[in-house]
Amino acid sequence: MGKNLTSRSEDYSKWYNELVVKADLAENSGVRGCMVIKPYGFAIWEKMQSQLDKMFKETGHENAYFPLFIPKSYLSKEASHVEGFAKECAVVTHYRLKNAEDGSGIVVDEDAKLEEELIVRPTSETIIWDTYRKWIQSYRDLPLLVNQWANVVRWEMRTRLFLRTAEFLWQEGHTAHATRQEALDEAEQMMHVYADFAENYMGVPVIKGTKTESERFAGAEETYCIEALMQDGKALQAGTSHFLGQNFAKAFDVKFANREGKQEYVWATSWGVSTRLMGALVMTHSDDNGLVLPPNLAPIQVVIVPIYKGLEQLDAISEKVEPLVKELRAKGISVKFDKRDTHKPGFKFNEYELKGVPVRLAIGQRDLENGTYEVARRDTLEKESVKAEDVVGRVAGLMEEIQKNIFQKALDFRAERITEVDSYEEFKKVIEEKGGFVSAHWDGTMATEDKIKEETKATIRCIPLNAKKEEGSCMVTGNPSAQRVLFAKAY
Ligand code: AMP
Repeated sequence: MGKNLTSRSEDYSKWYNELVVKADLAENSGVRGCMVIKPYGFAIWEKMQSQLDKMFKETGHENAYFPLFIPKSYLSKEASHVEGFAKECAVVTHYRLKNAEDGSGIVVDEDAKLEEELIVRPTSETIIWDTYRKWIQSYRDLPLLVNQWANVVRWEMRTRLFLRTAEFLWQEGHTAHATRQEALDEAEQMMHVYADFAENYMGVPVIKGTKTESERFAGAEETYCIEALMQDGKALQAGTSHFLGQNFAKAFDVKFANREGKQEYVWATSWGVSTRLMGALVMTHSDDNGLVLPPNLAPIQVVIVPIYKGLEQLDAISEKVEPLVKELRAKGISVKFDKRDTHKPGFKFNEYELKGVPVRLAIGQRDLENGTYEVARRDTLEKESVKAEDVVGRVAGLMEEIQKNIFQKALDFRAERITEVDSYEEFKKVIEEKGGFVSAHWDGTMATEDKIKEETKATIRCIPLNAKKEEGSCMVTGNPSAQRVLFAKAY
C-alpha cells in the first residue's frame, strides 16, 4: 500500500486533511461541517476520555447528563453569553413532518410549530444553571462539582476535521461555589489538569495563561487556557477553563444561605476540552510517513508482523509469538499480532506506520533460527535486532522512551519558535516569516489588539501565567505594559 501522503513542507494543511482520512481517524459526512469519527480515531478519543475522566474524578468531580435542547429564553438570560453564541446556533422550530399535498415529498408541518424555539446546545451553562437553582439552597450544598460528556453544536462557517467542526464531542465541567476565591481556584486547577493531560499523555507541550477580554468566553470574567504550537508554526487553543463570577447565578437566580443565614449568589466555573485535541495530537507529532502516536494514547502499542512462506513457517512463528503476546499483555501493553494472510508484510509495515503504532516487532525465518526479533520504533524509525528473552523488557522501556522523546522533540521545536521582539516592525517580520509564538509588550487595550489582528492576523494567545514580570512599553503605541504577552497566528 503506497501512503501517497502530501508532505508537510509541500502543503501542511493538505497533509493534515489527507492524514486524518488515510489513517482512518475520521472523514467528512453528508452533513455540512459534521464529521464521522471512525473506529481507529474513536479508540484514541476513548483513551483520552478515560484518562481525563479519571483525572476529573480524582479532583472530586462527578458525571451527570443534561438535555441536548435549550429553550431560547434560557439562552437570552445572560446578555453577553447569548451575544457570543447567537451567531452560531442551530434552532429547532418544528416537531413534525408531513407528506406534501402535491405529492412532492416530505415537508415541515407548519401546524407543528413549537411555541418556543429550542436551541441545540452550543454549551450548557444556561440549562445547567437553571437546574442548579433547584439543587442549591444552602452552603451545605456547595461546592457542586459536575462534569458532562456530550456533543455540542456551533454553526462554524469554516470547518476542518477535528479542529473545528459544527458538531463536536467534548466534556464540560460546571461547578458552583460559595466564594469567589474557591471558584477562581477551581478554574485555575482545571487548567493545570488539562496541561498535565496534554503534556504527560498527549506529549503536547502547552503554555498556560489567561485570555484577554476580547478572546474570553462569552459570559466569563476570566478565561484560563492552554495553548499548543503546531508544526506549521500556528497556535492551537487546546483547552479552556472559565471563572464565570456570579453572572449565571444572577441570570438564573441561584442563591444560597451562607453560614450566617444570609442569601448570596453562587460563584461559578466551566471548563472544556473537545475532539479538537485529536487534531492537536496529529499536528504535533506526525510526520510525512503518517501518524506518530504517544504510547500513552495509542490503541495498539505494539504490533507483531510475521514474515513467512507457507503455513508451516507461520505455525512455527506463532508458537513463539503467542506466549510473547500474553507476556506483553500481562504488563498492560496492548498488542496486535497481525497474522492476516491477505496482506504482505510490506503492506502491513506501511499501514502501521501510517497509523502511528509506536513499536513494531517483525519475526521471520532468520529471527526464528537466531532467537531474535526486529524491533522498530515509529518516532525515530530506528530498527534493532533484540534477543527474544529481552524483548518484553525492551518494549516496556520503549513505551517510556518514545513517550518522553516525542514530548521533548515538540518542546525543542516550540523553544525555537518563541521569539521576543521589541518593535512592531520586527513583530510583523517574525509573524510573517518565522511564525510561532511572539512575545511582546502590549498596552492592554482592545483597540491595539484589534489593530494588530487586522494588520497581521496574529492574536494574543494568552497572557502567560508563569512569565517573569517585566515592565516595558507597547510595541505599537509605546504606552506602558506590565508584562509581555504571547501572540501567534492561530487555528
Ligand atoms: P469554549 O466553550 O469556547 O471555551 O470551548 C471549549 C473547548 O472546545 C476549547 O478547548 C475549544 O478549543 C474547543 N472548541 C471550541 N469550538 C470548537 C469547534 N468548533 N470544534 C472543536 N472544538 C472546539
